[in-house]
Amino acid sequence: MDLHLRKRTWAEISLENIAHNYRAIRAAIPTGCKFLGVVKADAYGHGAVAVSRKLEELGADYLAVSCLDEAAELREAGIGLPILILGHTPREYVSELIDLKLTQTVTCEAKAIEYSQEAARIGRPLRIHIKVDTGMARLGFLTAEGHFEQGVGNIVSACRQPWLEPEGIYTHFALSDEPGDEAREFTQKQFRLFLDVISRVEKAGITFKIRHCANSGAVVNYKETALDMVRPGILLYGFGDGGKLGLRPCMRLMTHVSTIKYIDDGLPVSYGGIYVTPRRTRMGVIPIGYADGLLRSLSNNCSFMTADGPAPQRGRICMDMCMIDLTDLPGINLESLIEIFGEKQSAESLAARAGTISYELLCSVSKRVPRVYTD
Ligand SMILES: *Cc1c(COP(=O)(O)O)cnc(C)c1O
Repeated sequence: MDLHLRKRTWAEISLENIAHNYRAIRAAIPTGCKFLGVVKADAYGHGAVAVSRKLEELGADYLAVSCLDEAAELREAGIGLPILILGHTPREYVSELIDLKLTQTVTCEAKAIEYSQEAARIGRPLRIHIKVDTGMARLGFLTAEGHFEQGVGNIVSACRQPWLEPEGIYTHFALSDEPGDEAREFTQKQFRLFLDVISRVEKAGITFKIRHCANSGAVVNYKETALDMVRPGILLYGFGDGGKLGLRPCMRLMTHVSTIKYIDDGLPVSYGGIYVTPRRTRMGVIPIGYADGLLRSLSNNCSFMTADGPAPQRGRICMDMCMIDLTDLPGINLESLIEIFGEKQSAESLAARAGTISYELLCSVSKRVPRVYTD
């Protein structure tokens, strides 16, 4: 039996396209600028271990994940690159951070003090990057407007904690992938503020080897923000403004027709009966549902790709399967391949139908779906 049929539904991941995208992004940033690959959320659903191995082999300088467990998974798999944890780690885990040679983000003075105390107890320093909030209003030392002086003071104090090694400083853009003048002004303001914060902190005698802020949007739209390192995520996987750099999608979500039946006209299909057959219908059942990451909000509002063209999806998407209309696709039979998204239909266009973005569609592909790598 074919591997793909045993797998029911699977995601083909092209590491070759990851490599292509890596090189294209490299070519778009200044030489000497470091490259951090964001591999949080299992590398946006592509498999963090496989993608990180590839990035290491390609010569990336740094990786970033959201939490300690994600970082530990990479270390267990033998990934040796420096890894930045973007989110919070409770102080109880400082020894693990140090043992695994991880870099922890520090977002406020109180956490810097806690981390330093823990590191002192262990007797080994913790490497950190300072996170500055320049307008995202998420994590980081507040520095906008009236917070500037206090923010700078707190960063200096954090960096002076005796058992911390401040290697880097970074901020995150909120609007770098949005069109329009307002987004441009906001992003430029965030960038200027970030530079101002750094120069004020440096006046206190603290310097950072790695200053970074460019997420995918900024890598493409604000090249002047590259500084010492860029921090792309979605670009690596071929989306965002990747079209401008000739980037390629790396995931193709595939399934096949598992059952075909003929349904008389006038019959409701699936839960809730939201679709009623307008004619005698040749209906295919495909083994993919919302437990595989196929968003239920797409129900009755999308098509999937066959070798002969799009097959409209009918009725509610169930947990493990859904129905597609094959009446006008007589050449599509049992075991015919169905592309949910990938080459013939982009993840971005399918995401748009669900009122969301490629990021969410990619991360939603669940762990039940095996990743099949091509290189
Ligand atoms: C997720 C994330 C990124 C990557 O964002 P993209 O839009 O995918 O490039 C970069 N930096 C931080 C802090 C993040 O949380």
